[in-house]
Amino acid sequence: MNSIHSQSKEIAEVFIKSSYSVAFTGAGISAESGIPPFRGEGGIWSRYNPEVLELDFFFRQPFKSWAVIKEIFYDFFQDVKPNAGHNVLAKWEMEGLLHALITQNIDNLHQKAGNHEVYEFHGTTSRLICTYCNNIFSSESVLLEQLPPRCADCNGLLKPDFIFFGEGIPEKAYQQSIDAARKCKVFLIIGTSGEVSPANQIPALAKESGAVIIEINKEPSMYTNRISDYFLQGSAGEILSLIDHHIQSKKENHS
Ligand code: NAD
Repeated sequence: MNSIHSQSKEIAEVFIKSSYSVAFTGAGISAESGIPPFRGEGGIWSRYNPEVLELDFFFRQPFKSWAVIKEIFYDFFQDVKPNAGHNVLAKWEMEGLLHALITQNIDNLHQKAGNHEVYEFHGTTSRLICTYCNNIFSSESVLLEQLPPRCADCNGLLKPDFIFFGEGIPEKAYQQSIDAARKCKVFLIIGTSGEVSPANQIPALAKESGAVIIEINKEPSMYTNRISDYFLQGSAGEILSLIDHHIQSKKENHS
């Protein structure tokens, strides 16, 4: 197997030549910002009961559900900052090297880093939606002092605008993700185990369309040895920075 160094050099070349590149991110890219994954040791669900994200439970016990949701997704996420991995992806978008970013994350860190073309496959914590009239509110505009929060227009129960267990994928983000996967030449999979469906079907679409699949993960995933053409094992921030270093030196040599 080629070293990470030589693989990243090759990948830099592939990236520079690509006319349409897409990144697909999961919880792993935000780990270096201090956000734990949901599952496994140290995961969020080892400390909290996942029932708070079941729709049934949420409607039956909105206060109980919101108390936990607030603690995990609002009190904690609010102070979290993008890390080196997010920053490289934002820089690549600005430089015209990355054309779309599909994320399974709900933490808004790609936007905080500066990416604009972000398709939030599972929604986001940055908005709240009224479960009665569907009005949308920025989460910053809603004080979470009194729980559960209520719609300023109709007094309906507000819910974070990310999907709870069993809910469907937001239609627009779903379609945008499929379109991007179908037309891309390079598809970068970062920090995702590939265990969550239907998000895990998006990389296969890119593969079927002939894209080069580049994977970055600390551990092998469902994609490694199946669809990944390159597998770079390590932390997202470190590896993305290394690829970026090679891209920038190649660009300097070409100019
Ligand atoms: P997952 O927890 O199933 O897998 C995380 C993957 O990241 C693993 O394969 C792990 O080896 C890898 N990883 C961990 N640290 C890494 C690092 N520093 N660099 C590179 N890779 C690293 O995550 P998933 O596949 O995204 O699916 C989990 C679901 O939970 C998704 O729906 C996601 O939306 C949600 N989730 C989101 C957040 C968030 O918004 N930050 C956090 C936890 C879970």
